[in-house]
Amino acid sequence: MEKALEILRKTFGYDEFRHNQAGVIQALLEGNDALALMPTGGGKSLCYQIPAICRPGTGIVISPLIALMQDQVDALKQLGIACAFINSTLDRASQREIETDLVNNKLDLLYIAPERLLNEYTLRLLERCQIALFAIDEAHCVSQWGHDFRPEYQRLSLLHQRFKNVPRIALTATADDVTRNEIKSQLDLYQANTFISSFDRKNICYRIVEGKNGRDQLWQFLEKEHPHDSGIIYCLSRKKVEKTAEWLMARGRTALPYHAGLSDSLRQHHQNRFLRDDEIIIVATIAFGMGIDKPDVRFVAHLSLPKSIEAYYQETGRAGRDGLPANTWMNYGLQDVISLRQMVQSSEAAETFKRISIQKLEAMLGLCESVLCRRQTLLAYFSEILSEPCGNCDNCLTPPELWDASQAAQKALSCVYRSGQRFGVNYLINILRGKQDERIQANGHDTLSTFGIGADDSVQYWRTLYRQLIALGYLEVDPEGYGALRLTEKCRPLLRGETGLKLRRQRIADKLSNRRKKRQLTEILDEDQALFSDLRSLRKGFADAQGVPPYVIFHDATLVSIAQHRPEDLASLLNIPGIGQHKLAHYGKRVIEVVREHIMSS
Ligand code: ADP
Ligand code: ZN
Repeated sequence: MEKALEILRKTFGYDEFRHNQAGVIQALLEGNDALALMPTGGGKSLCYQIPAICRPGTGIVISPLIALMQDQVDALKQLGIACAFINSTLDRASQREIETDLVNNKLDLLYIAPERLLNEYTLRLLERCQIALFAIDEAHCVSQWGHDFRPEYQRLSLLHQRFKNVPRIALTATADDVTRNEIKSQLDLYQANTFISSFDRKNICYRIVEGKNGRDQLWQFLEKEHPHDSGIIYCLSRKKVEKTAEWLMARGRTALPYHAGLSDSLRQHHQNRFLRDDEIIIVATIAFGMGIDKPDVRFVAHLSLPKSIEAYYQETGRAGRDGLPANTWMNYGLQDVISLRQMVQSSEAAETFKRISIQKLEAMLGLCESVLCRRQTLLAYFSEILSEPCGNCDNCLTPPELWDASQAAQKALSCVYRSGQRFGVNYLINILRGKQDERIQANGHDTLSTFGIGADDSVQYWRTLYRQLIALGYLEVDPEGYGALRLTEKCRPLLRGETGLKLRRQRIADKLSNRRKKRQLTEILDEDQALFSDLRSLRKGFADAQGVPPYVIFHDATLVSIAQHRPEDLASLLNIPGIGQHKLAHYGKRVIEVVREHIMSS
């Protein structure tokens, strides 16, 4: 372990291990197998990189994300680590060269795609080499039920058979029990030491806002909190992606669309710009994300409601991998709730699948309408108890008001009942507000007892109430009835007056007054801003010269720390997190110069 700690300090430039890193590393150094569950940004890679360097031979890293390998290898080379990747993008000559290096034990790490690993040629090659360990990254890809399923992953258990004495480690950021057990059984990891970290992403602030004018609210959020940051905006449909990107461009932001309808080359181009340039916003369908390792994504926004908490957690999890403060923001409205409910209810899928989808959506809607700490609710969903409210979500920062909605809900529900459970929200609201319209008259609904009993309140008031009643399961959407609403069992006690109903009050505007003060504490101070941006330009120069993304050179966290501590010599620069000996030797002098120039001129 001493050697491991020395590598952490000298090569990676970090002071101490995080989460379960030390435990995992020790297990591997002792020759045992390990299963590591850690949230995104938790530091999974060090868990296999350090033992691969310590142990004799090469560490083989199996990853499904071919697009990422280049970046991963570039980042390791920046640290002075001997490594390479083998995948379909390589030409013959380069591949031969790597194979020779491998056989001659010149590599500490080799990244490889599962299909390539499993081919007999590669397996034979590996049998001729000394192997330090096998790391199976994104191990949840073995799960048939997950959306990242890769059939080849299920064949990886043969590593255990053919390389009996080589320790294996499986890693994933997917939290649930079912997946965990599937990994163990599919990969034959029953004997493995299991390490489970907390899934709490403390640096992420969660915010969910309701209301119709999603775009305007989004714009306010971007202008106020992220005028110059990189981020991701998720939308449900391709069309909405295109529209939103155009709209942001028209307002002067660099926003690039990403969805399955664009050509491969255009998608690749947009992704590269997102990785390499500053201040780029990607507007995407859920097709975007898997394998995006960009550490400095400062915000993730949703203009559409995700279908489950798993999806929400995974998508929002792409923010702030570097541990610096990051925001997630979501807008949702009545229409989202209706269409998603309708979608799962009318799906052709098997009954069990449908039932599970409905439960998942319900949990998601519950999170949206919750008045409790968002983080507590989120983590509870993954069976993790957070004992205190977090203080870093909208419900903690500006607690929502509750109001007694019992009477209003009775009006809204009985209006559904009396009109025969055959109509959608707009029609129902017209009845409640006593609107004389032809359809209502033709149906004789202007004589109902609920006609006009809601005239004192606005359309928006009733829309919000209906949304909440649908979200909370008092009403269901008829799958065939064009959004017609029906009562559920849950309504009875409420209609009979046996129970009451308290709901969160719609916020007029999305205000988070305490928020800015809080960000200032952890983020860069105004007086360090100028130096920080000079350092950013310096980094961009280094990155462009080598054709790699800027974060491969230094993470933002490293630049922030330099701007704060202003090291004027190499020895003090080495104390900055993220600067090890290799980076010190390559970039140290120029960094110090920029710091000194800055000190002299200010
Ligand atoms: P994951 O793969 O779990 O999403 P990474 O391995 O990419 O996470 O690590 C996330 C970030 O945390 C990286 O910037 C990494 O350099 C940093 N990191 C990892 N371990 C440590 C540590 N012990 N101390 C400080 N930073 C660390
Ligand atoms: Zn909270």
